[in-house]
Amino acid sequence: MKIDHQPASSILSTATGFISDFDYTLNPYSGCAFACSYCYAAFFTPTQALQDEWGQWVRVKDNALDLLKRRRNRPLIDKVIYMSSVTDPYQPVEKWLELTRALLRELLDYHQVHLVIQTRSPLVCRDLDLIREFASARVNMTVTTDDETIRKAFEPTCPPNTLRLDAIRDVAAAGIDTCVTLAPLLPVRDAESFAARLAATGVRKFAIQHFHATRSRFVAGTGARARALLAERGWDERHYARVKQALAARLPDLREGRAGFAPIW
Ligand code: SF4
Repeated sequence: MKIDHQPASSILSTATGFISDFDYTLNPYSGCAFACSYCYAAFFTPTQALQDEWGQWVRVKDNALDLLKRRRNRPLIDKVIYMSSVTDPYQPVEKWLELTRALLRELLDYHQVHLVIQTRSPLVCRDLDLIREFASARVNMTVTTDDETIRKAFEPTCPPNTLRLDAIRDVAAAGIDTCVTLAPLLPVRDAESFAARLAATGVRKFAIQHFHATRSRFVAGTGARARALLAERGWDERHYARVKQALAARLPDLREGRAGFAPIW
């Protein structure tokens, strides 16, 4: 893993496309050590080399906190922030850098925002003391399958889904708004028992999304590996629909696609 430190020109970006219900995205890092085979964020890298090496590099936005401090004289009031859209704010490097944590502290002390944290890392639990202080905050935990062999094939360097479920249970128990994002939903071994495990976390909001192979440069890059893995396992739209139906029967607040990611729910 190559870790660089590079200043960014800005830290808040206008949210567009799938997440345009938000006002801003906030990405403390570029790149992501979790290296998911299907990661769409790889498509947004500035060069083909960085795209090809997705998952092997992280750039730390060293000046992220200073950039946010410049907003103190123009506080963010009632703005909806998505953290993060093209990286995981709780990937391993965050454990010792605590950059995400510093940004949370700054948002809390100088702004009044609605915050949605998107992660697949149990490290988010370290910051529950701050997250619970926001008047409006939600933690979205990505969980993609009930099958560790599938997780290891598609996301070999991500935390096991069991740890993610334990973590989001702890977030919910802390009284913080939570959602499990089943996105993209990967092959599932037993939909009924998976639904029972999801419900047992205490989370009541669920978002689901099928794996999308869009026509873009991305598909020819990192997406191709994930598509090949899915094809090997015979996972297609029909399987997805069947699992979605089984989950929906047991998880009343299951929303699909953009509706599941909407900040106000
Ligand atoms: S955790 Fe998110 S940003 Fe990181 S590689 Fe996986 S999908 Fe991409």
